[in-house]
Amino acid sequence: MIEIKTLASSSAGNAYTVTDGNTTLLLEAGIHFRDIQRAVGFRMSQIAGCLISHEHGDHRKAAADLAKAGVEIYASQGTLGALQLPRHRTTALTAKKQVVIGSLTVLPFDVRHDAEEPLGFLLGNQAGEKLLFATDTYYIPYRFPGLTHIMVECNYSEAILDSNIIDGRVPAIQKKRLQRSHFSLENFKDFIRANDMSKVQEIHLLHLSDRNSDEAAFKRELQELTGKPIYIAER
Ligand SMILES: [Zn+2]
Ligand SMILES: [Zn+2]
Repeated sequence: MIEIKTLASSSAGNAYTVTDGNTTLLLEAGIHFRDIQRAVGFRMSQIAGCLISHEHGDHRKAAADLAKAGVEIYASQGTLGALQLPRHRTTALTAKKQVVIGSLTVLPFDVRHDAEEPLGFLLGNQAGEKLLFATDTYYIPYRFPGLTHIMVECNYSEAILDSNIIDGRVPAIQKKRLQRSHFSLENFKDFIRANDMSKVQEIHLLHLSDRNSDEAAFKRELQELTGKPIYIAER
């Protein structure tokens, strides 16, 4: 059984743990190392590896400290190049090439973000569960059959963003950047409609924007659309 724990999820920092009971992975390292240590009860040796989607600070802050503490860092060649970590603690991932970490399989795939070589991850365990992790992408170019767990960014709603721009709370130029870098509620709905939801047990919304999102409305709308439990990852 897959268990997901959010340590942080926003543009200030992102980190999650995922475990199937045998193998525990850290997804992202965008908070202080000591906060990660605290969250895992200082048992760093139980972390089988850390997957990092891309090099932005809110996803990689603790990467060097984790490597120093002996945690293997998994990321694309492009991301690793930007992170500049000691080589003996890193494994380069290639989109569409599966790796095995303990009892979990990890299939990286390319996403769309303003970073060197950003990746999303499809995790699988021996019980046949499948977890999709995708954040900081304005588009998910693939369909994933048989998902059981979904962790996907739901950064902003176009309607809220537009009204913030009209009211002068958000500069108009930000819309262009968001549309080319982050996943919106509208994208999320399209993604859900395009994918097989029959086995999905839980959906976690990640990386909500402080200004351009509405937790309660996102949760309600997606619950109505999917009939699945929706969790807002704690910021
Ligand atoms: Zn981010
Ligand atoms: Zn980013």
